[in-house]
Amino acid sequence: MNSDDNKLAIEGGAPSKTRPDPPMFPGGMMLGEEEEQAVLGVVRAKRLFRYKGPQPGPSKTDELEKAFAAMVGVERALAVSSGTAALQCALMGVAVGPGAEVIVPAYTWISSAAAVVACGAVPVIAEIDESLTLDPRDVERKISVHTRAIMPVHMRGVPCRMDDIMAIARQRGIAVIEDVAQANGASYRERRLGSIGDAGCFSLQFNKILTAGEGGMVTTNDAAIWKRAILYHDVNAGGRHKMPEEEVVFGVNLRMPELLAAVALVQMKRHEALLSAMRQRKKAIIAAISDVCRRTGVRLQDVPDPEGDASVALILLLHSAPQAQEVTEALQAENIGARLLYHPDVRDYHVYAHWGAILEQRTWTVDGGPWRWAKRPIAYSLDMCQRSLDLLGRAFIIHVNPLYSDEDIEGIAKGINRVFAALI
Ligand SMILES: *Cc1c(COP(=O)(O)O)cnc(C)c1O
Repeated sequence: MNSDDNKLAIEGGAPSKTRPDPPMFPGGMMLGEEEEQAVLGVVRAKRLFRYKGPQPGPSKTDELEKAFAAMVGVERALAVSSGTAALQCALMGVAVGPGAEVIVPAYTWISSAAAVVACGAVPVIAEIDESLTLDPRDVERKISVHTRAIMPVHMRGVPCRMDDIMAIARQRGIAVIEDVAQANGASYRERRLGSIGDAGCFSLQFNKILTAGEGGMVTTNDAAIWKRAILYHDVNAGGRHKMPEEEVVFGVNLRMPELLAAVALVQMKRHEALLSAMRQRKKAIIAAISDVCRRTGVRLQDVPDPEGDASVALILLLHSAPQAQEVTEALQAENIGARLLYHPDVRDYHVYAHWGAILEQRTWTVDGGPWRWAKRPIAYSLDMCQRSLDLLGRAFIIHVNPLYSDEDIEGIAKGINRVFAALI
């Protein structure tokens, strides 16, 4: 090996990885003939609306719900228009409303907190731990007499510490709504995510593991939650399902269109292959970098159940934020799509510190809103979850693309080895 061989790309060496990453849309990149045919079938049958069409019979959405419930291992699933809508329906399902508090993690997509606000309730933000998911100990600290629900978010495909979270919630009679938007197909101790809490919420938006462009799903074993979710997602649910008039509450329309359900049904056939491709690739990268991580003291994200990891991402924790920044830039020069998880100056709604409208308790009307309805004063501040900001600020992510070739994997491993050896 000559000395040039180890020269970092950022200093003019040849990049370790020869090509840039393919686009990271796991299910999206698989869209093909079968999805095309499925869409055509729906259009040709003129059955674009779940509940009606020229011919009677079950809809694609019915079929999708059945398949999804079976995949997750729950009795019921309700298809909706987005992951955010799924969260709203599940929160309404467990009767979260004005005066209620819901514990959400400091690191999640903003939808988790925004859905709580949309229900008129107040999000209480809790720390993450080295799993980069909800820290059960901080959840305990943040519980008040007004806490109605806890929302563990399985970020980046990684299952939360569900045993601890469920124990805390069950002891106090608090509901658990799992946000599984980023972890469709992942599991915790051999139970699929979305089947452990009182309800699970999934997204079929284009970035997610399986996609119909948009769409969402609520999963539950609880008939009462399911019924309330149906009422909330369809303003005509009472009439349509002939519910006793005195049980009807009006919601809004968050229904899934048949075109989405048809695409999602095809995508479900691709699920296992995508999961195993990502899992195999993540394992290969970890095996090739574990020595250099040990030598440099770099830690992998602590995954509560590695076997259940959907493996959409590899996250590494460096020693400091400046070091993470330097390493990330060097990796990018190697053609490795590494990104920081948090930078105070780069707006990113995955981190609570960027949720200005929530931190400032800004609402749609001047004199209403969740924080006025709250049963106690709620205070937020930029540094309220300092430990989370510290963890995220020194973490970087590499998406584990199911389309990575063996050569891509070798390039990633080589680049990480080279950059860590030179800079840490
Ligand atoms: C994408 C996402 C959502 C929202 O899903 P949409 O379909 O975009 O509304 C909610 N939570 C998390 C963690 C997400 O990543």
